[in-house]
Amino acid sequence: MIPISKPLMGDEEKNAVSAVLKSGQLAQGARVKEFEEKFAAYCGVKHAIATSSGTTALWLALLAHDIGPGDEVITSPFTFIASANSILYAGAKPVFADIDAETFNLNPELIETKITPRTKAIMPIHLFGYVCDMEALSKIARKHNLAIIEDACQAHGAAQNGKRAGSFGTGCFSFYATKNMTTGEGGMTTTDDDQIADRARLLRAHGMRVRYYHESLGYNFRLTDIQAAIGVAQLEKLDGFNESRSANAAYLNEHLESVSIPQIKRGYRHVFHQYTIRVKDNRDELQKKLEQAGIGTGVFYPVPVHQQPVYRNLGYREALPVSETVSQQVLSLPIHPALSRDDLALIAQKVNELC
Ligand SMILES: *Cc1c(COP(=O)(O)O)cnc(C)c1O
Repeated sequence: MIPISKPLMGDEEKNAVSAVLKSGQLAQGARVKEFEEKFAAYCGVKHAIATSSGTTALWLALLAHDIGPGDEVITSPFTFIASANSILYAGAKPVFADIDAETFNLNPELIETKITPRTKAIMPIHLFGYVCDMEALSKIARKHNLAIIEDACQAHGAAQNGKRAGSFGTGCFSFYATKNMTTGEGGMTTTDDDQIADRARLLRAHGMRVRYYHESLGYNFRLTDIQAAIGVAQLEKLDGFNESRSANAAYLNEHLESVSIPQIKRGYRHVFHQYTIRVKDNRDELQKKLEQAGIGTGVFYPVPVHQQPVYRNLGYREALPVSETVSQQVLSLPIHPALSRDDLALIAQKVNELC
């Protein structure tokens, strides 16, 4: 069976973890600091604050921006539920804007109709490793004085016009096991803003600057040195991982015949967290047949967030037709760096046979 994702762990990760275990310093310490500094440099920002997950990175970013009850955040409904949930955790209201069917990302033309006096931020989600049109979104944010909180949980190393995901506003990353780089579980908030970084560090550890003196209501969103040691080793390999994802995508683009394949517009660096095709009819049947042929696939995501029971129960009723249609059609094929040429050839052959 060819899996839809596979973490790649080598001796570098094993040795790094072993050294942390021997050191006795397991919780947040020197390895977390090293990981933060290296990750900030990688993204091209001044600060990175490591967290326990991508979800807590998003939540922390919203809290650091003082977004809470009475505030609205505009985001995409075509995503993993953590994006919108983080807005609810902060006590604010997610406002959904529809996506562009080609890129699967927020359609900048639909943002301004969603802005109200309560809007505090836009949360673009760089889905599948493809950065949103940040030139257009940044322009809207500047015009209306809104913060940008990027959900870059699938976009480590992705860029628009040479500027990396996580550097357009306050960035949020996940290091969950299926992501382009992993620490098992883990996350990172990135920013160029000294004050946001300071607030984020404070809130990550129970509002504590001086040991056992608590300035504000904080949380425990910390990463461990064990995870950070894995993160440092994975970050070294990230560009190589992303290059092999791109090469795998180029192979499939060339060999797939009659399905709608991912497009890369000029100026974008796609890091192919997922390689997602659109199947107009009988997507679920195709998925089943590929499974029978030994090819694992994924549907990201079968139900847009505004239609999930938890959001329906909050009163979300608005139709978002592009997200709703696309969620019936998307199918992600394996694209991870552990694939062989034979795996790719089999994937292309089977998809061509069945479509
Ligand atoms: C993975 C992911 C998250 C959440 O990250 P966790 O580390 O699983 O908490 C948030 N948003 C998107 C788009 C993701 O893919």
